[in-house]
Amino acid sequence: MDIIHLLPDTVANQIAAGEVVQRPSSALKELLENSVDAGATKIEVFVKDSGKTLLQVTDNGKGMSPTDARLSFSRHATSKIRTAEDLFAIRTMGFRGEALASVSAVAQVELRTRMLTDETGTLIRIEGGEVKLQEPVVTPAGTTIAVRNLFYNVPARRNFLKSNTVEARHIIDEFERVALAHPEISFSLNHNGLDVFQLPPSNLRQRIINVYGNQYNEKLVPVNESTTLLRINGFAGKPEFARKTRGEQFFFINRRYIRDGYLHHAVSNAFEKLLPSESYPSYWLFIDIDPSRIDVNIHPTKTEIKFDDERSVYAIVRAAVKSALGQFSVSPSLDFEKDTSFELPHSMLYKPVQKPGITVDTGFNPFMRDNSHRKADGWQQAYNGLEKIHIDNPVENISGIEFPEGIQNRAGDTIVSGEGSLLTHEGILAFPSVNGITFIDYKGARERILFERFLDVAEGQAHETQLELFPLTLNVPAGDFELIQEIEPELRGLGFDLREFSGSTFVLHGVPSGLEKGTEKELLELVIEQYKNQQDKPGMNIREKLAWTLARNIVKNEALPHSRSGIDQLPTELLRCRQPNYTPGGNPCMMVLKTEDIRKWFK
Ligand code: ADP
Ligand code: MG
Repeated sequence: MDIIHLLPDTVANQIAAGEVVQRPSSALKELLENSVDAGATKIEVFVKDSGKTLLQVTDNGKGMSPTDARLSFSRHATSKIRTAEDLFAIRTMGFRGEALASVSAVAQVELRTRMLTDETGTLIRIEGGEVKLQEPVVTPAGTTIAVRNLFYNVPARRNFLKSNTVEARHIIDEFERVALAHPEISFSLNHNGLDVFQLPPSNLRQRIINVYGNQYNEKLVPVNESTTLLRINGFAGKPEFARKTRGEQFFFINRRYIRDGYLHHAVSNAFEKLLPSESYPSYWLFIDIDPSRIDVNIHPTKTEIKFDDERSVYAIVRAAVKSALGQFSVSPSLDFEKDTSFELPHSMLYKPVQKPGITVDTGFNPFMRDNSHRKADGWQQAYNGLEKIHIDNPVENISGIEFPEGIQNRAGDTIVSGEGSLLTHEGILAFPSVNGITFIDYKGARERILFERFLDVAEGQAHETQLELFPLTLNVPAGDFELIQEIEPELRGLGFDLREFSGSTFVLHGVPSGLEKGTEKELLELVIEQYKNQQDKPGMNIREKLAWTLARNIVKNEALPHSRSGIDQLPTELLRCRQPNYTPGGNPCMMVLKTEDIRKWFK
């Protein structure tokens, strides 16, 4: 008995759609690329409900004849290649001829198109791959495609879509990639009636600024290099503006946005030693290369490619970026922290500049110095011994530490007096406990304390008076608007009184108490920025992530305390926390060196 049969086209297309159309943003990408391929100079996008309800792209490109319009929805229907050899001469974004077939298999699609030379255009309605209507229509030259109710006929996939915020983020990412790749084309994006982007035709620098904001102008270093193999141009972000989070890293190969870990490595390598630790370079790099030297057909969404000479490409990219950074005399000796006043420790921010002076040590005696040197050696030896001591389980659970006298923890048990604590220059605090000596990482502890304090405030368990501010306006990158709207209630809970003003502006009326004056805005921007890039971090909810980022950024700029009370207070505050053993990020912040282990040194 024969059991094999051919799948009907509609089913085959639905299956194919699984590869090409993962979410609204992937459909948008295909539509945008078709408009680019059609030679459009103006592309307008309207989106409703993050693309779940509507994705509409209007272009002024070359349009389609009535026959082509009908054919464009068939699988393997393309005007862009004819033979397999053409695959290696590709200059267009599309070529697989499956995007429209796939999208129309899983949505309700309406196409209006007219070639400039034709009097009337064509209207086609197609749902789930079935053509419902085709008729002549009066329509401007160019093409409008509206994709409604994506996955309406594949409930399983519709259910897989993420929240509106997440899908909107994807839409914006995809839109930005195409818009950055084609600065000469005018683009606009309207979401739920709000203009998110209005990008006039321009050069690349201006496009980057229009997408990200004016402040990017001073951040960009041009990259330009021509070799026989390829041409590379674009911009690298100056190292001092490097972001604490990954994000603005773009490679466009022949104008196609590509993900490529290997090339990314080449750029990172060029930045080596120029970047402060834990920060990532930004770059927008365009590589033009003979299409025969690359294979773009290795991934259904065409976001990966293969080079025939990967190593040379790597070397050229690295050298180009390196020399660009060098030319702009960005040298490793630069003190990055100094360039952004926000990075300065608070204690230094408002201090008047002091004239450097020379102090002469009148008691200086070269022979004495020799003496003390020998002493130092002796000390080092003592430390050597210390290193050898094996500490099995230095992090004792709090219940395992017995403190001599003192104050009460949350549960009302008496636990500790921080009096007599010692603080080293490196920020390690030490104090005696009954079973040994307890060490606290001062900054880690502060992070924990502030983190829990913010959470307490948010949960209404504590009251921090809000500082009324002279209202500060906050211009957010258009792409972040949705996100900020979503986290606004949580930010409010933490004490940020942030009110929406217009499509890209918020006004900050109040901040949590305890923030250093003058830094509130930068701090909030940093919190949002870092939050944005750790959205997928598991194990923490939005509020915790925000509280943590906030705490971390405050502590980073805090000076160690100078006063006795500042030092003594810390152990008390830490031990009042719900989880005093660890920083919010999971590093230990308190350790005990047990007396019995110390005893061993002296035996
Ligand atoms: P591909 O882009 O890989 O050729 P698509 O399914 O995306 O495949 O599109 C099929 C064909 O429909 C294209 O080759 C093109 O000829 C035509 N087409 C699609 N969108 C447009 C548009 N916006 N303007 C003009 N022609 C278009
Ligand atoms: Mg296409």
